[in-house]
Amino acid sequence: IFISFEGGDGVGKSTQARLLGAWLGEVTGREVVLTREPGGTPLGQVLRDAVLHGDHVDPRAEALMYAADRAHHVATLVRPALERGAVVVTDRYLDSSVAYQGAGRELAPDEVERISLWATRGLLPAVTVLLDADPTVAASRRASVEGKGALDRLESVGAEFATRVREAFLDRATAEPDRWVVVDATGTVDDVQSQVRVDVAARLGL
Ligand code: C5P
Repeated sequence: IFISFEGGDGVGKSTQARLLGAWLGEVTGREVVLTREPGGTPLGQVLRDAVLHGDHVDPRAEALMYAADRAHHVATLVRPALERGAVVVTDRYLDSSVAYQGAGRELAPDEVERISLWATRGLLPAVTVLLDADPTVAASRRASVEGKGALDRLESVGAEFATRVREAFLDRATAEPDRWVVVDATGTVDDVQSQVRVDVAARLGL
């Protein structure tokens, strides 16, 4: 069972992915592999550092670095885990590329999607959970926990960029309703997790 979490920065993807993974382990009795993109493998960690903390990267090069991270992640970690029957929960997958590089950086979203599908040999999650929140609300909420840094980050990314990313995720969820569940991410951690469990269980027939 392959599940991805998607959404803008600071909406709580890693926390919700971890909690869902633990719960799915209990209810299914299967091994759970919790992972993320970019950076789910040693090579991916190198690519993550280069793209996020290195010199400015050209947008097309950036798209290919995320695709390279994903190709290696799927080939060496995700597919082998699925083949041995594990539940794989990933914090971001190819929809992040379509939203960030496609809509955010304004490369053609369908081209970015094609690169990703080539990189992954077409592997798509059974369920993709979109944690949806207004980017300013998400940044303010994080700012109250971790200080002003979260709002500064939104400022540096640009509220318009973040809004394009959010709209792209919502459009994808609308276009492919069988794969996506959309959960309002503005509640408490427990409230959001309850809703995620209900929706994922319904999709998987658990
Ligand atoms: O989700 P995480 O915090 O690991 O993402 C790190 C950063 O990479 C985020 O700021 C996110 O906006 C960016 N990112 C991106 N394109 C992707 C995936 C992540 O710009 N395809």
